[in-house]
Amino acid sequence: KLNGKNRFTIYNNTLDGDQAKQSEEMVRNLQAAIELDQIEVYYQPKINASTEDIMGFEALVRWEHPELGIISPGLFIPLAEQTDLIYPIGLLVIEKAAECLKKWQKQYKIPLTMSVNLSPIQLNDKDLTSKISHIIDKTGIHPKHLDFEITESEKFKSVKDALLMFKKIVNLGCTLSIDDFGTGHSTLDYLRKIPAKTLKIDQVFVKNIGLSPDDEAILDATIDMAKRVGHFIVAEGVETEEQRQYLTNKGCDYFQGYLFCRPLPKKEIERILLQREEI
Ligand code: C2E
Ligand code: CA
Ligand code: CA
Ligand code: CA
Repeated sequence: KLNGKNRFTIYNNTLDGDQAKQSEEMVRNLQAAIELDQIEVYYQPKINASTEDIMGFEALVRWEHPELGIISPGLFIPLAEQTDLIYPIGLLVIEKAAECLKKWQKQYKIPLTMSVNLSPIQLNDKDLTSKISHIIDKTGIHPKHLDFEITESEKFKSVKDALLMFKKIVNLGCTLSIDDFGTGHSTLDYLRKIPAKTLKIDQVFVKNIGLSPDDEAILDATIDMAKRVGHFIVAEGVETEEQRQYLTNKGCDYFQGYLFCRPLPKKEIERILLQREEI
């Protein structure tokens, strides 16, 4: 482990000399990682709750460091967001994910979707939608199969501009999912204003099934509300049979979690898809 999180997440003027130097070095390393093609994308299947088929994937970025091994996004995305590196990294993920989607749809004849996480910082890029549009054209995927997972965030420069960007993405034909709902800054007002099709229930609520009656009550109310406004519901972080049963009974549409599959590199996903086809 890389001396804990702080070394990467703090990048501001209040750092002492040593820390600032380490951070600068990290930024240089991350920059080099992009150029050396060390930024990879893993994919975690989303499972249809009633048929148990794979309906699609979430793309999750990884830094494949030659010495340190696989570095998780929690350790370098915050740093990328504080520098301008989130722009090339974000684009690279969309590009790789779209290429995979095209390949898998062709190879396995299953109508798959691909979800990509969008950082709130990426919304500041005025050309974001034209870049997405270019990737859609280049890969030949159908925009309706490309989904973007978004969070409400204090990092929005302006909520109004963020909402405008979301509309532009939807106008391309892509879909939006509200990520991490029920934590941090997501509010009912946000839910109402975002043109999203799907709501993702955050893992903390799934973890507390059978443990916290209060969290169960919030979970139940969230699912009920999301259904009433016509959203699909994805539960993430599903790890146990008990959680799966509970969420199925409440009417969740899709599952994501270690109970079904961990995020895996492209090659391993292809092995799984091949097995599914042979059944
Ligand atoms: P997230 O979007 O909420 O992604 C879900 C996280 O939960 C992933 O962590 C995934 O590996 C993990 N997870 C999935 N199933 C289970 C489970 O059953 N149990 C547990 N304990 N965890 C599970 P990961 O891959 O480390 O990503 C962490 C966060 O980093 C993501 O949270 C997302 O906010 C961010 N991130 C990942 N990839 C990207 C990216 O390409 N762009 C941006 N901007 N952010 C990304
Ligand atoms: Ca996500
Ligand atoms: Ca999430
Ligand atoms: Ca999260």
